[in-house]
Amino acid sequence: MRPFDYQRPARAAEAVQAASANSMYHAGGTTVVDLMKLDVWRPDRLIDISGLSDTSYDFVQRKDGRLRIGALTRMSSLADNAMIRSDYPLLSDSLWLAASPQLRNMARLGGNVLQRTRCPYYRDTGYDQCNRRNPGSGCAALDGGVTRNHAVLGVSDQCIATYQGDWAQALIALDANVELLGKDGPRAIRFADLHRLPGDNPAQENNLRTGDLITAFSIPDKTWKRSKYLKIRDRESYAYALASAAVALDMEGDTVRDVRIGLGGVATVPWRASEAEAALKGQTLDEASATRAAQIAFSRAQGTQENAFKIKLGRETLVRALLETAQMEG
Ligand SMILES: Cc1cc2nc3c(=O)[nH]c(=O)nc-3n(C[C@H](O)[C@H](O)[C@H](O)COP(=O)(O)OP(=O)(O)OC[C@H]3O[C@@H](n4cnc5c(N)ncnc54)[C@H](O)[C@@H]3O)c2cc1C
Ligand code: SF4
Repeated sequence: MRPFDYQRPARAAEAVQAASANSMYHAGGTTVVDLMKLDVWRPDRLIDISGLSDTSYDFVQRKDGRLRIGALTRMSSLADNAMIRSDYPLLSDSLWLAASPQLRNMARLGGNVLQRTRCPYYRDTGYDQCNRRNPGSGCAALDGGVTRNHAVLGVSDQCIATYQGDWAQALIALDANVELLGKDGPRAIRFADLHRLPGDNPAQENNLRTGDLITAFSIPDKTWKRSKYLKIRDRESYAYALASAAVALDMEGDTVRDVRIGLGGVATVPWRASEAEAALKGQTLDEASATRAAQIAFSRAQGTQENAFKIKLGRETLVRALLETAQMEG
């Protein structure tokens, strides 16, 4: 590791003021310390926000028609929250199925949504070619590398790295907002606008400004008891998704009144399948309509020789998630 300055402010405003273009926030540290040890990230200042105490950033609250969740809430704490398990199972499932118990106890939700790709060429500085880490250098994955775990949706000719997080798929499905404290004061953005597609500039991974601190997430407080997160992976524990689906259903009998779909393990950013949702609304939910929606969801997918299997796997994951969610109590 390289030398760096370490600060642990008590107030969010101090953290934001201390931030600069080459500083980084440290919440649970499970991504940031990992990438510093690998020499992928080289901040000159680490601002530890885990001790912020000017107000609580670890809370779950229903207020004024919104569900609000503090950014310093631990993954394990939200996963185990009785109200979340009952009224928003997909928010809970997507955390239970992520990482390991130790990581879920350390990691906070603000850091969770900003975790980085596991593309091996991004994480290994022995490879010069990585447009995300080293802009303009090329892409070792696309240039003959191993691409089994890479994305099939939202890819560009500069980068096909998968966004690997699980919880983000639930947030994007539920129209979440992100509450921020920036150098110019507080503001909120749509969660769907937080991450950026790689396009021709994969190094710019999100739309945060220097110093922006995530303080909370909020969701319209419409209870989604009939919702789930289905994660398909190489082994049933402690592994990232090959394909996943966050599904929430509002049904009238067998007919879909409203549906939300987020897809994970298959895209470069948290992925909302809006066209598939539109195809299901007002329809009877059965294997035929679910299969049609899944085909629509992956109609623009582009695979490599090694990861093309994810297109079929992603479709089948979505069909199964839709049919299993429909069987849940509403
Ligand atoms: C071995 C391993 C397996 C894993 N498996 C999974 C998995 O299956 N599924 C899954 O979803 N995740 C998985 N993860 C990722 C893990 O969930 C994340 O590392 C963790 O959630 C990050 O949270 P943190 O609090 O530790 O973030 P940190 O490491 O502290 O921060 C991560 C990033 O977010 C920034 N940041 C943190 N908080 C804020 C804030 N409030 N405002 C602005 N910026 C902020 C930091 O500057 C940094 O850029 C795994 C990680 C490891 C190491
Ligand atoms: S896929 Fe993206 S992260 Fe991976 S080597 Fe290519 S540019 Fe880098």
